[in-house]
Amino acid sequence: MSKPRREQETREKQLTRFETRAVHAGERRTYLATDGKSDGGLYPISTPIYLSTTFAHEDIEQTDKVLGGEETGYSYTRYGNPTVAAFEEAVAALEGRGHAFAFASGMAAMHAALLAAELTNGAMVLAAEQLFGSTSSLLVQVFGASGVEVRFVDACDLAAVEKNIEELTPRVVVLETISNPLLRVADVPRIAELVRTAGSTLVVDATFCTPYLQRPLELGADMVVHSATKYLSGHGDLTGGVVVTDIPYDGALDQIRKLVGGLMAPFEAWLALRGVKTLPLRMYRQCENAREITTRLAAHPKVAKVYYPGSKDHPDNEVARRTLADAGGLVSFELDTRTPDGGREEAFRFLNALKVCVKVPSLGDIYTLAIHPATTSHRELSPSRRARLGVKENLIRISLGIEHPDDIIEDIEQALEKV
Ligand code: PLP
Repeated sequence: MSKPRREQETREKQLTRFETRAVHAGERRTYLATDGKSDGGLYPISTPIYLSTTFAHEDIEQTDKVLGGEETGYSYTRYGNPTVAAFEEAVAALEGRGHAFAFASGMAAMHAALLAAELTNGAMVLAAEQLFGSTSSLLVQVFGASGVEVRFVDACDLAAVEKNIEELTPRVVVLETISNPLLRVADVPRIAELVRTAGSTLVVDATFCTPYLQRPLELGADMVVHSATKYLSGHGDLTGGVVVTDIPYDGALDQIRKLVGGLMAPFEAWLALRGVKTLPLRMYRQCENAREITTRLAAHPKVAKVYYPGSKDHPDNEVARRTLADAGGLVSFELDTRTPDGGREEAFRFLNALKVCVKVPSLGDIYTLAIHPATTSHRELSPSRRARLGVKENLIRISLGIEHPDDIIEDIEQALEKV
């Protein structure tokens, strides 16, 4: 047995705990031969960025075997790349099972997952009405145009989900574990049971959770999708996505990615792999910061209502406690306003007064980010749909970063004084 392989096997036996897997998984799976022989090779501690479109083999017979799948290896980067594979191995190790497939964005990942679930002409998809706007539009505009029927349901109303699954027997059910911006928590294990009984496929977008908070495959989901742009990479410096799944979907997903070509690029994969190493540390701090900020916001006279799944008065607090390791790193709140425009003016004044928190429509970064959902993430919705989803003009969403909580609180409190 070659030395690198022996070391890799020993190392993998030690990767039993989440934090250890986050640091080591995916690394040291490739080595650089110094003399053309593997045993004498260098063993980089950190996976290099393989900026290579193609990989040459010893002889053309080996190329034939790699392309034919008889031998593992790399041939052409659209089919697979060692840096991308390192990131994929790390994410699969954190999810606890299955194979990961990295994509150029979260949307490309979701699109591929839905295709792998055979969401094709004549099929029906039951989707959570709380879904990220672009995912809803992907279903309606792209899949809808090719003959897919799309139905929406309140994913946090288990009775409604059950009724719809029984009546419609959808081919696919798609939801987000924690949704934007009221941080509703879907009951993944119970919905997975209903989906399994109906013989449907459950696709869970766990972007807001990451495997630190929940591992949907272990709870019965068929595919888990992440926008790696958010918490997984965590530094606001790349766009990417990943799907983790197992038999029978992994073969289809691999083929779809090869043919559609939405593979994550090697540089992004390297950045994302670096980000994953600190995921548990970042998530721990972000969850702590969210808890602390919730307490302070709830006591503030200029705040009318706080949405945080860890609070007893949140409608999904019981589901969150039962299905998540912690309540997450996001908090939303309504300003106490009584103006005719419903509070948009005050919300803008609050956001403009922030000095530490960054005003950008994203989440999951090391920086604390603040947005006005009604004019950003939910801008494309009609006012009536926004009202039905509870997205008011006075609503602010905060994605906690890893800064000192007192600096975030002081910043929010000084901005509230300007409202
Ligand atoms: N899923 C969720 C829950 C998101 O919030 C987003 C983006 O905000 C996406 C998917 C899409 O990810 P990306 O922007 O990486 O395509």
